[in-house]
Amino acid sequence: MEINIKWHKKNKMLKNATIEQKIKWHEEHARHCCCRDSKKHLLQLKKKIPLTVKNHQVVARNSRKHKAWALEAAKEARKVLLIFEKENPKDNRPRLAIEAIKAWATGKKRA
Ligand SMILES: [Zn+2]
Repeated sequence: MEINIKWHKKNKMLKNATIEQKIKWHEEHARHCCCRDSKKHLLQLKKKIPLTVKNHQVVARNSRKHKAWALEAAKEARKVLLIFEKENPKDNRPRLAIEAIKAWATGKKRA
């Protein structure tokens, strides 16, 4: 088991790394270094990820794919928003929900 010191110096694990960031680090680690068995550790990490399901596909919660799906759903909801608001002019909850989804999925603050 040889350690790739150069790689380790360049690629420090973030202090408050998310599970996804840890998985990414360990995947990269496995490619560049043999100082420990990353495969076993990766499997343990992947078991910790909460999952979400769409069309029988499973993705990690808060992953890029999950956010892409959410944006898709927000886009569809936006199409019928005006119809809803015409009938419920005082109810802004759907609009706020769509904005919240967009903010979460893009990492931007709400407008
Ligand atoms: Zn290593």
